[in-house]
Amino acid sequence: MLQDAALRERAARVIPGGLWGHLRVQGLPPGYPQFFQRAQGCRLWDVDGREFIDFMCSWGPVVLGHHDPDVQAAAEAQAKLGDAMNGPAPVLVELAEHFTGLVAHADWSLFAKNGTDATTICVTTARAATGRRKLLVAQGAYHGAAPWCTPYPAGTTAEDRAHLIHYRYNDLDSLAQAAAAAGDDLAGVMVSPFRHDYGVDLELPTPAFAQAVRALCDRQGAALILDEVRTGARLDLAGSWERFSVRPDLSAWSKAIANGHALAAVTGNDRYRDAAASIFVTGSFWCGAVAMAAALATLRKLQAVDGIAHMRAMGQRLREGLAEQAAAHGFRIRQSGPPQMPLVLFDDDPGAELGTRFCALALAQGVYLHPKHNMFLSVAHRPQDIDDALQATDRAFAALAAQR
Ligand code: PMP
Repeated sequence: MLQDAALRERAARVIPGGLWGHLRVQGLPPGYPQFFQRAQGCRLWDVDGREFIDFMCSWGPVVLGHHDPDVQAAAEAQAKLGDAMNGPAPVLVELAEHFTGLVAHADWSLFAKNGTDATTICVTTARAATGRRKLLVAQGAYHGAAPWCTPYPAGTTAEDRAHLIHYRYNDLDSLAQAAAAAGDDLAGVMVSPFRHDYGVDLELPTPAFAQAVRALCDRQGAALILDEVRTGARLDLAGSWERFSVRPDLSAWSKAIANGHALAAVTGNDRYRDAAASIFVTGSFWCGAVAMAAALATLRKLQAVDGIAHMRAMGQRLREGLAEQAAAHGFRIRQSGPPQMPLVLFDDDPGAELGTRFCALALAQGVYLHPKHNMFLSVAHRPQDIDDALQATDRAFAALAAQR
């Protein structure tokens, strides 16, 4: 029996559902492994020894590459000194200074562990600052797994979401309607830097939409909360809406900021400083110094090597190659999103059945893609890796065409 199957069998006995959350393999095409042995750079190996070029990067956190030597050295040096102590290490202040300096809207930073911690802290801060309750969120947007925001409401109550009002991304009328429904009880507007909902084309914001969100928050005295958990450190280290000259009041960060080490951050401006100081948010591991040392090394290296430009270039190389191959094999595909966070969907494939078959075939050729979720490039993807991946996807397209 394959190792992966054996581990799944054992897991099913002692872990509810075999695994919890987004990394459950049930959501992936047939043939995808659940368990991995190791990872290095842009490659990973499953427990049965199969090697893949990785285009999910642990669903975002791995931005420099698995086991980046500089990040690992910084983490190990801090680990020798101490990690979970009775208070933070000096690296907390160094990281807060560095991150606050990097993020254009930020006058302060604080740290937690998961993206859900960060988005939840933003909402709590906005409510503490304004004394109001209502939060506008885009329909279909993911902001975490807590009862107030989970897309899977089993075990939650309607009351958990009682103060959410939905708008449609990039739709000024629906934004205005949602704001009218909130009236004078509007605490904040939560928005993703671009629309990255599951299974549908990724959509960049129009400048008019970004500006309208800012103007609404200014008019109402509400907090503009940018959820940078997925985009952070991949689009613009200063903040993903800098290109629109729109600055949020609060931003939630996690995933890529520590290259796979567990860390989240909230940044805010001075208007929200006192509110952020007034709320009680904490966790046993939130002051862990190793992840902070890793974050400092990650952010510095991303800047030093212009990692974002590199990821964009590699994503573009992949995109152009896939477009050519799809056309050559007679498939119509749509590639959306920023090149470094791409999504590939097939035309006339509403249930993503064709996309799922394509990904399964690509996996068999050694490339780990996702048929419905945006993917992630890393700094460890070099031109040769993209070209290797493209050779594999060309064989996958050919095999898909042979099935017609
Ligand atoms: N916001 C966004 C946009 C996300 O993509 C995610 C995670 N996929 C979260 C929040 C929640 O982060 P975490 O899973 O670390 O709690």
